[in-house]
Amino acid sequence: MFFFFVGGLEQQARQVLKSGAGRCIACGSRADLVEYDKVLKLFFVPVWRWPGKQPLMHCNNCNLFFPQSPEKEAALRCQFCAREVDPAFRFCPFCGSNL
Ligand SMILES: [Zn+2]
Ligand SMILES: [Zn+2]
Repeated sequence: MFFFFVGGLEQQARQVLKSGAGRCIACGSRADLVEYDKVLKLFFVPVWRWPGKQPLMHCNNCNLFFPQSPEKEAALRCQFCAREVDPAFRFCPFCGSNL
């Protein structure tokens, strides 16, 4: 006996929080910051839906959901205290060294 599971988990934008808040990481189109629902579908019918925890970016062009802040570039480390420092800083906020 076979058991067919035709379904899956989808994400659907529920509400646009900020239109054009960023760019799609895949196609470069304008992406919106949205609140989304996770939707469980069985046989293409939504059977369960619950809200996502955090807002996500959503591309209207390729329908991709992705986190609002993509991976940061390699973090800069203070060469004196070895802590991670925002690359925008000119001085280490921990030890005050010139970066
Ligand atoms: Zn896209
Ligand atoms: Zn430091």
